[in-house]
Amino acid sequence: MKNKKIIVAGNWKMNKTYLEAKEFIAKLNQLPDYTSQVIIAAPSLYVDTLFINNQKENLALALQNCSAYESGAFTGEISARMIASLQLKYCIVGHSERRSYFEETDEIISDKIAQLIHYNVQPIFCIGETLQERKVNETFNVIRKQLVRGLEKVPVEKIGNIVLAYEPVWAIGTGITATKEQAEEVHKFIFQLLSEIYNPEAAARIPILYGGSCNEKNAEELFYQPHIWGGLIGGASLDVNSFYKIIQIAEKINGK
Ligand code: PEP
Repeated sequence: MKNKKIIVAGNWKMNKTYLEAKEFIAKLNQLPDYTSQVIIAAPSLYVDTLFINNQKENLALALQNCSAYESGAFTGEISARMIASLQLKYCIVGHSERRSYFEETDEIISDKIAQLIHYNVQPIFCIGETLQERKVNETFNVIRKQLVRGLEKVPVEKIGNIVLAYEPVWAIGTGITATKEQAEEVHKFIFQLLSEIYNPEAAARIPILYGGSCNEKNAEELFYQPHIWGGLIGGASLDVNSFYKIIQIAEKINGK
């Protein structure tokens, strides 16, 4: 992929107290600057303070979820419009934990993506198959269905605002990482699908991150694969030193 620039995105999920989150950012501030795009999806309650405390130009704070609705009587929800009003650039959508524990369907995810795109917040749109689906050779069908339905409301002129994340469910939080061959095969398939749905030029501009037990030990070989644009990192993003090592891998590959 010609203009590929590695992106490192952390997903803290429901971890860290306020103090722990602030300490992480303070430590990251002290480490040498980097030029790669780095994203941290923090608990929404802290995002604004972390945003203010952050001194790294290339670190974007992000949300982990947003509402499928625009505004109104939806107690506890956070809208894309609210996210945009804090000048936040990214929001994770369709994470497998939200699909399975909170019963988010492809239709709900498609509405969330439409909201984010409308307010110029870039969705980090997660797709991936379960172990059972992989075992019965359904991986490509599942990926196709999730991708086509999720992007249903995204016109070609907006596709440049999407970041995709291929996250095989069997690799998330399990310590079992997809091999570079397994990951590359699906990333290439996603790229080809995007080329079909939109066009090859548009597809070539869409970052596809890998997620699923990605860490400082396996990130390099994954990130060197032609269709892998970086990582969405859960567990290894919680420790600032591990996370920084992954940023350094991105720096090396990005040629800095
Ligand atoms: C994730 O939750 O997006 C993730 C990839 O988690 P982990 O790195 O812990 O597998």
